Amino acid sequence: MQIKCNILDRQFQMYQSEYEEAALRVLRSGWYVLGNEVRQFEEEFAKFTGRKYCVGLNSGLDALIMSVRALGIGPGDEVIVQANTYIATVLGITENGATPVFVEPDEYFNMDASRIEQAVTDRTKAIMVTHLYGQASNMAPITETAKRYHLAVIEDCAQSHGACFRGKMTGTFGISGCFSFYPTKNLGAFGDAGAVVTDDGTFADRIRMMRNYGSKIKYHNEIEGVNSRLDEMQAALLRVKLAHLRTLNDERIILAKRYHEGINNPKVILPGVRDGAESIYHQYVIRCSQREDLQKVLEQNNIQTQIHYPIPPHLAKCYAYLGHKKGEYPITETYADEVLSLPIYTGMTFAEQDYVIDQINAWV
Ligand SMILES: *Cc1c(COP(=O)(O)O)cnc(C)c1O
Repeated sequence: MQIKCNILDRQFQMYQSEYEEAALRVLRSGWYVLGNEVRQFEEEFAKFTGRKYCVGLNSGLDALIMSVRALGIGPGDEVIVQANTYIATVLGITENGATPVFVEPDEYFNMDASRIEQAVTDRTKAIMVTHLYGQASNMAPITETAKRYHLAVIEDCAQSHGACFRGKMTGTFGISGCFSFYPTKNLGAFGDAGAVVTDDGTFADRIRMMRNYGSKIKYHNEIEGVNSRLDEMQAALLRVKLAHLRTLNDERIILAKRYHEGINNPKVILPGVRDGAESIYHQYVIRCSQREDLQKVLEQNNIQTQIHYPIPPHLAKCYAYLGHKKGEYPITETYADEVLSLPIYTGMTFAEQDYVIDQINAWV
Protein backbone atom coordinates (compact mmCIF):
# COMPACT_ATOMS: atom_id res chain seq x y z
CA MET A 1 0.00 0.00 0.00
CA GLN A 2 1.16 3.54 -0.70
CA ILE A 3 0.09 6.36 1.62
CA LYS A 4 0.71 9.99 0.78
CA CYS A 5 0.47 12.88 3.25
CA ASN A 6 -2.39 14.31 1.31
CA ILE A 7 -4.45 13.42 -1.74
CA LEU A 8 -6.19 16.60 -2.78
CA ASP A 9 -8.34 15.15 -5.54
CA ARG A 10 -10.29 13.08 -2.99
CA GLN A 11 -11.77 16.19 -1.41
CA PHE A 12 -12.63 17.45 -4.89
CA GLN A 13 -14.33 14.21 -5.87
CA MET A 14 -16.40 14.20 -2.70
CA TYR A 15 -18.46 17.18 -3.90
CA GLN A 16 -17.37 17.23 -7.53
CA SER A 17 -20.68 18.18 -9.13
CA GLU A 18 -21.15 21.08 -6.71
CA TYR A 19 -17.68 22.44 -7.45
CA GLU A 20 -18.17 22.10 -11.17
CA GLU A 21 -21.50 23.88 -11.02
CA ALA A 22 -19.97 26.74 -9.00
CA ALA A 23 -17.00 27.04 -11.35
CA LEU A 24 -19.23 27.19 -14.41
CA ARG A 25 -21.44 29.77 -12.73
CA VAL A 26 -18.39 32.03 -12.34
CA LEU A 27 -17.04 31.39 -15.82
CA ARG A 28 -20.36 32.25 -17.36
CA SER A 29 -20.99 35.30 -15.19
CA GLY A 30 -18.49 37.57 -16.91
CA TRP A 31 -17.37 38.93 -13.49
CA TYR A 32 -14.16 37.53 -12.01
CA VAL A 33 -12.77 39.72 -9.24
CA LEU A 34 -14.59 41.16 -6.17
CA GLY A 35 -18.17 40.41 -7.07
CA ASN A 36 -21.20 38.62 -5.82
CA GLU A 37 -19.45 35.35 -4.93
CA VAL A 38 -16.87 37.15 -2.78
CA ARG A 39 -19.60 39.16 -1.08
CA GLN A 40 -21.60 36.05 -0.33
CA PHE A 41 -18.62 34.03 0.82
CA GLU A 42 -17.64 36.87 3.16
CA GLU A 43 -21.14 36.91 4.60
CA GLU A 44 -21.24 33.14 5.00
CA PHE A 45 -17.79 32.87 6.52
CA ALA A 46 -18.45 35.73 8.95
CA LYS A 47 -21.59 33.92 10.02
CA PHE A 48 -19.77 30.60 10.32
CA THR A 49 -17.17 32.09 12.66
CA GLY A 50 -19.70 34.22 14.52
CA ARG A 51 -18.05 37.52 13.60
CA LYS A 52 -19.63 40.63 12.11
CA TYR A 53 -17.25 41.12 9.20
CA CYS A 54 -15.12 39.06 6.86
CA VAL A 55 -12.80 40.49 4.21
CA GLY A 56 -11.59 38.08 1.54
CA LEU A 57 -7.92 38.34 0.58
CA ASN A 58 -5.27 36.72 -1.56
CA SER A 59 -3.63 34.58 1.10
CA GLY A 60 -3.22 33.85 4.76
CA LEU A 61 0.10 35.67 4.79
CA ASP A 62 -1.61 38.79 3.46
CA ALA A 63 -4.22 38.50 6.21
CA LEU A 64 -1.42 38.53 8.80
CA ILE A 65 0.62 41.32 7.20
CA MET A 66 -2.42 43.53 6.64
CA SER A 67 -3.80 42.97 10.14
CA VAL A 68 -0.54 44.11 11.70
CA ARG A 69 -0.41 47.08 9.33
CA ALA A 70 -4.02 48.08 9.91
CA LEU A 71 -3.26 48.28 13.63
CA GLY A 72 -0.48 50.76 12.89
CA ILE A 73 2.24 48.42 14.14
CA GLY A 74 5.65 49.07 12.55
CA PRO A 75 9.33 49.79 13.19
CA GLY A 76 10.21 49.99 16.87
CA ASP A 77 7.16 47.99 17.92
CA GLU A 78 7.25 44.45 19.27
CA VAL A 79 4.80 41.65 18.69
CA ILE A 80 4.77 38.54 20.87
CA VAL A 81 4.58 35.33 18.85
CA GLN A 82 5.07 31.67 19.61
CA ALA A 83 8.48 30.36 18.66
CA ASN A 84 7.33 27.11 17.04
CA THR A 85 4.98 28.55 14.45
CA TYR A 86 5.15 28.57 10.67
CA ILE A 87 7.38 31.27 9.20
CA ALA A 88 4.35 33.11 7.75
CA THR A 89 3.15 34.13 11.21
CA VAL A 90 6.48 35.83 11.86
CA LEU A 91 6.60 37.35 8.37
CA GLY A 92 3.31 39.06 9.19
CA ILE A 93 5.25 40.99 11.82
CA THR A 94 8.59 41.56 10.11
CA GLU A 95 7.05 42.60 6.77
CA ASN A 96 5.86 45.66 8.70
CA GLY A 97 9.29 46.35 10.15
CA ALA A 98 8.16 45.33 13.63
CA THR A 99 10.15 42.96 15.86
CA PRO A 100 8.94 39.47 16.77
CA VAL A 101 9.43 38.46 20.40
CA PHE A 102 9.32 34.69 20.66
CA VAL A 103 7.60 32.73 23.40
CA GLU A 104 7.97 28.99 23.96
CA PRO A 105 5.04 26.65 23.29
CA ASP A 106 3.14 24.58 25.84
CA GLU A 107 2.68 20.81 25.74
CA TYR A 108 -0.08 21.23 23.13
CA PHE A 109 2.25 22.96 20.64
CA ASN A 110 0.55 26.33 21.20
CA MET A 111 1.81 29.50 22.86
CA ASP A 112 2.55 28.93 26.54
CA ALA A 113 0.29 31.53 28.13
CA SER A 114 2.27 31.52 31.36
CA ARG A 115 5.36 32.84 29.55
CA ILE A 116 3.75 35.82 27.84
CA GLU A 117 3.98 38.29 30.68
CA GLN A 118 7.77 38.05 30.93
CA ALA A 119 8.01 38.87 27.21
CA VAL A 120 6.04 42.12 27.50
CA THR A 121 8.03 45.36 27.28
CA ASP A 122 6.94 48.97 26.84
CA ARG A 123 7.25 48.44 23.08
CA THR A 124 4.88 45.49 22.91
CA LYS A 125 1.83 46.21 20.79
CA ALA A 126 0.23 42.84 20.13
CA ILE A 127 0.15 39.11 20.75
CA MET A 128 0.04 36.95 17.64
CA VAL A 129 -1.37 33.52 18.46
CA THR A 130 -1.25 30.50 16.15
CA HIS A 131 -3.74 27.71 16.76
CA LEU A 132 -1.17 25.26 15.50
CA TYR A 133 -2.15 21.92 13.94
CA GLY A 134 -5.84 22.75 14.43
CA GLN A 135 -6.01 22.94 18.19
CA ALA A 136 -7.19 26.13 19.90
CA SER A 137 -4.65 27.95 22.05
CA ASN A 138 -5.21 28.64 25.73
CA MET A 139 -7.26 31.76 25.01
CA ALA A 140 -8.57 32.58 28.50
CA PRO A 141 -5.20 33.57 30.04
CA ILE A 142 -3.96 34.95 26.71
CA THR A 143 -6.81 37.44 26.32
CA GLU A 144 -6.58 38.25 30.02
CA THR A 145 -2.88 39.14 29.72
CA ALA A 146 -3.58 41.12 26.54
CA LYS A 147 -6.25 43.13 28.31
CA ARG A 148 -4.03 43.85 31.30
CA TYR A 149 -1.26 45.27 29.08
CA HIS A 150 -3.57 46.83 26.45
CA LEU A 151 -2.27 44.60 23.67
CA ALA A 152 -4.11 43.67 20.50
CA VAL A 153 -4.66 39.97 19.87
CA ILE A 154 -4.20 38.72 16.32
CA GLU A 155 -5.03 35.07 15.70
CA ASP A 156 -3.38 33.01 12.99
CA CYS A 157 -6.20 30.61 12.16
CA ALA A 158 -4.61 29.18 9.02
CA GLN A 159 -4.84 25.70 10.57
CA SER A 160 -7.93 26.06 12.75
CA HIS A 161 -11.05 26.66 10.63
CA GLY A 162 -13.87 25.72 12.95
CA ALA A 163 -11.79 24.83 16.02
CA CYS A 164 -13.15 26.15 19.31
CA PHE A 165 -11.90 27.07 22.76
CA ARG A 166 -14.67 26.60 25.35
CA GLY A 167 -17.27 26.65 22.60
CA LYS A 168 -16.02 29.90 21.06
CA MET A 169 -14.52 29.70 17.63
CA THR A 170 -10.87 30.52 16.96
CA GLY A 171 -10.63 33.81 15.13
CA THR A 172 -13.12 35.50 17.46
CA PHE A 173 -10.93 36.21 20.49
CA GLY A 174 -8.89 39.14 19.23
CA ILE A 175 -9.44 42.06 16.91
CA SER A 176 -8.42 39.98 13.90
CA GLY A 177 -8.80 36.34 12.93
CA CYS A 178 -6.49 35.58 9.99
CA PHE A 179 -7.37 32.65 7.77
CA SER A 180 -5.58 30.92 4.92
CA PHE A 181 -7.50 28.90 2.36
CA TYR A 182 -4.41 27.35 0.78
CA PRO A 183 -5.50 24.07 -0.82
CA THR A 184 -4.21 21.78 1.94
CA LYS A 185 -5.95 23.65 4.78
CA ASN A 186 -9.14 22.27 6.30
CA LEU A 187 -11.07 24.91 4.38
CA GLY A 188 -8.92 24.85 1.28
CA ALA A 189 -9.55 26.64 -2.00
CA PHE A 190 -8.29 25.52 -5.41
CA GLY A 191 -5.53 28.11 -5.46
CA ASP A 192 -4.40 30.81 -3.06
CA ALA A 193 -6.93 32.60 -0.89
CA GLY A 194 -7.29 34.05 2.61
CA ALA A 195 -9.47 36.25 4.79
CA VAL A 196 -9.67 38.38 7.91
CA VAL A 197 -12.63 38.20 10.26
CA THR A 198 -13.37 40.89 12.84
CA ASP A 199 -16.13 42.58 14.82
CA ASP A 200 -14.52 45.99 14.43
CA GLY A 201 -16.12 47.94 11.56
CA THR A 202 -13.28 50.47 11.28
CA PHE A 203 -10.69 47.71 11.16
CA ALA A 204 -12.70 45.81 8.53
CA ASP A 205 -13.02 48.97 6.44
CA ARG A 206 -9.31 49.54 6.59
CA ILE A 207 -8.48 45.99 5.48
CA ARG A 208 -11.09 46.26 2.74
CA MET A 209 -9.52 49.47 1.43
CA MET A 210 -6.03 48.09 1.78
CA ARG A 211 -6.74 44.99 -0.31
CA ASN A 212 -7.84 47.14 -3.25
CA TYR A 213 -5.07 49.74 -3.62
CA GLY A 214 -6.22 51.66 -0.60
CA SER A 215 -9.45 52.89 -2.15
CA LYS A 216 -13.09 52.59 -1.25
CA ILE A 217 -14.14 54.47 -4.35
CA LYS A 218 -12.22 53.70 -7.51
CA TYR A 219 -9.24 56.04 -8.01
CA HIS A 220 -9.80 57.71 -4.64
CA ASN A 221 -6.82 56.27 -2.82
CA GLU A 222 -7.08 57.09 0.87
CA ILE A 223 -4.26 54.88 2.16
CA GLU A 224 -1.32 53.09 0.55
CA GLY A 225 -2.82 49.77 -0.28
CA VAL A 226 -1.91 46.57 -2.07
CA ASN A 227 -3.61 44.17 -4.43
CA SER A 228 -4.86 41.33 -2.28
CA ARG A 229 -8.29 40.57 -3.64
CA LEU A 230 -10.04 37.26 -3.33
CA ASP A 231 -11.22 36.25 -6.78
CA GLU A 232 -14.69 35.08 -7.70
CA MET A 233 -13.64 31.56 -8.68
CA GLN A 234 -12.01 30.80 -5.33
CA ALA A 235 -14.88 32.43 -3.44
CA ALA A 236 -17.47 30.33 -5.29
CA LEU A 237 -15.53 27.11 -4.67
CA LEU A 238 -14.96 28.03 -1.03
CA ARG A 239 -18.70 28.54 -0.57
CA VAL A 240 -19.23 24.95 -1.65
CA LYS A 241 -16.65 23.62 0.76
CA LEU A 242 -17.70 25.86 3.63
CA ALA A 243 -21.18 24.32 3.51
CA HIS A 244 -19.53 20.93 4.18
CA LEU A 245 -16.77 22.07 6.54
CA ARG A 246 -18.29 20.58 9.69
CA THR A 247 -18.53 17.17 8.00
CA LEU A 248 -14.98 17.48 6.70
CA ASN A 249 -13.65 18.46 10.14
CA ASP A 250 -15.58 15.61 11.78
CA GLU A 251 -13.94 13.19 9.40
CA ARG A 252 -10.49 14.33 10.56
CA ILE A 253 -11.58 14.17 14.19
CA ILE A 254 -12.60 10.53 13.68
CA LEU A 255 -9.31 9.75 11.94
CA ALA A 256 -7.40 11.40 14.81
CA LYS A 257 -9.34 9.33 17.33
CA ARG A 258 -8.46 6.17 15.43
CA TYR A 259 -4.77 7.13 15.46
CA HIS A 260 -5.04 7.86 19.14
CA GLU A 261 -6.58 4.52 19.96
CA GLY A 262 -4.60 2.50 17.44
CA ILE A 263 -1.02 3.68 17.87
CA ASN A 264 0.75 1.81 20.60
CA ASN A 265 4.49 2.21 20.58
CA PRO A 266 6.43 3.31 23.69
CA LYS A 267 8.78 5.39 21.52
CA VAL A 268 5.96 7.55 20.20
CA ILE A 269 4.25 10.41 22.08
CA LEU A 270 0.72 11.12 20.88
CA PRO A 271 -0.70 14.67 20.76
CA GLY A 272 -2.71 15.73 23.81
CA VAL A 273 -5.95 17.66 23.84
CA ARG A 274 -6.23 20.78 25.96
CA ASP A 275 -9.04 20.89 28.47
CA GLY A 276 -11.80 22.97 26.89
CA ALA A 277 -10.15 23.02 23.48
CA GLU A 278 -11.27 21.12 20.48
CA SER A 279 -8.94 20.27 17.65
CA ILE A 280 -9.96 19.97 14.03
CA TYR A 281 -6.71 18.08 13.37
CA HIS A 282 -5.32 20.01 10.48
CA GLN A 283 -2.33 17.83 11.30
CA TYR A 284 -1.95 14.81 13.54
CA VAL A 285 1.48 15.40 15.04
CA ILE A 286 3.33 12.83 17.09
CA ARG A 287 6.68 13.21 18.82
CA CYS A 288 9.52 10.77 18.69
CA SER A 289 13.11 11.19 19.88
CA GLN A 290 14.24 8.85 17.09
CA ARG A 291 12.20 10.62 14.46
CA GLU A 292 14.63 10.19 11.56
CA ASP A 293 14.59 6.41 12.07
CA LEU A 294 10.82 6.26 12.26
CA GLN A 295 10.39 8.49 9.24
CA LYS A 296 12.81 6.34 7.25
CA VAL A 297 11.08 3.10 8.20
CA LEU A 298 7.71 4.54 7.23
CA GLU A 299 9.13 5.80 3.96
CA GLN A 300 10.53 2.35 3.20
CA ASN A 301 6.99 1.08 3.65
CA ASN A 302 5.63 3.72 1.25
CA ILE A 303 4.18 5.98 3.93
CA GLN A 304 4.83 9.65 3.44
CA THR A 305 5.15 11.88 6.51
CA GLN A 306 6.00 15.54 7.00
CA ILE A 307 7.77 17.70 9.56
CA HIS A 308 5.98 20.86 10.67
CA TYR A 309 8.47 22.48 11.05
CA PRO A 310 12.12 21.38 10.96
CA ILE A 311 13.67 24.85 11.47
CA PRO A 312 12.05 27.21 13.98
CA PRO A 313 11.81 30.83 12.76
CA HIS A 314 14.38 32.12 15.28
CA LEU A 315 16.98 29.86 13.62
CA ALA A 316 15.87 30.52 10.04
CA LYS A 317 18.57 32.02 7.84
CA CYS A 318 16.32 34.94 6.92
CA TYR A 319 16.15 35.97 10.58
CA ALA A 320 19.86 35.76 11.32
CA TYR A 321 19.73 39.55 11.75
CA LEU A 322 17.57 39.10 14.85
CA GLY A 323 20.63 37.55 16.50
CA HIS A 324 19.03 34.50 18.10
CA LYS A 325 21.13 31.48 19.02
CA LYS A 326 20.59 27.77 19.09
CA GLY A 327 19.55 26.75 22.58
CA GLU A 328 17.64 29.96 23.23
CA TYR A 329 14.22 28.30 22.93
CA PRO A 330 14.89 24.69 23.99
CA ILE A 331 11.26 23.49 23.97
CA THR A 332 10.74 24.85 20.47
CA GLU A 333 14.00 23.31 19.28
CA THR A 334 13.13 19.93 20.81
CA TYR A 335 9.77 20.00 19.04
CA ALA A 336 11.50 20.85 15.76
CA ASP A 337 13.71 17.78 16.26
CA GLU A 338 10.94 15.42 17.32
CA VAL A 339 7.63 16.27 15.61
CA LEU A 340 6.27 14.15 12.81
CA SER A 341 2.98 14.73 11.00
CA LEU A 342 1.19 11.53 10.04
CA PRO A 343 -1.00 11.33 6.93
CA ILE A 344 -4.46 12.73 7.64
CA TYR A 345 -6.69 14.06 4.90
CA THR A 346 -10.21 14.15 3.58
CA GLY A 347 -11.10 10.84 1.99
CA MET A 348 -8.45 8.82 3.82
CA THR A 349 -9.79 5.29 4.20
CA PHE A 350 -9.64 3.30 7.44
CA ALA A 351 -7.68 0.63 5.55
CA GLU A 352 -5.05 3.21 4.62
CA GLN A 353 -4.92 4.47 8.16
CA ASP A 354 -4.70 0.98 9.66
CA TYR A 355 -1.70 0.33 7.45
CA VAL A 356 0.03 3.42 8.91
CA ILE A 357 -0.90 2.39 12.47
CA ASP A 358 0.39 -1.17 11.91
CA GLN A 359 3.71 0.06 10.56
CA ILE A 360 4.23 2.42 13.52
CA ASN A 361 3.33 -0.29 16.03
CA ALA A 362 5.65 -2.79 14.33
CA TRP A 363 8.62 -0.42 14.55
CA VAL A 364 11.04 -1.35 17.34
C1 LIG B 1 -0.61 28.16 5.75
C2 LIG B 1 -0.24 29.03 6.86
C3 LIG B 1 -0.07 30.42 6.72
C4 LIG B 1 0.00 31.11 5.40
O1 LIG B 1 -1.09 30.97 4.58
P1 LIG B 1 -0.93 31.22 3.01
O2 LIG B 1 -2.33 31.28 2.53
O3 LIG B 1 -0.13 30.11 2.45
O4 LIG B 1 -0.24 32.55 2.84
C5 LIG B 1 0.14 31.18 7.85
N1 LIG B 1 0.22 30.61 9.06
C6 LIG B 1 0.10 29.28 9.26
C7 LIG B 1 0.17 28.74 10.64
C8 LIG B 1 -0.13 28.45 8.16
O5 LIG B 1 -0.24 27.13 8.37
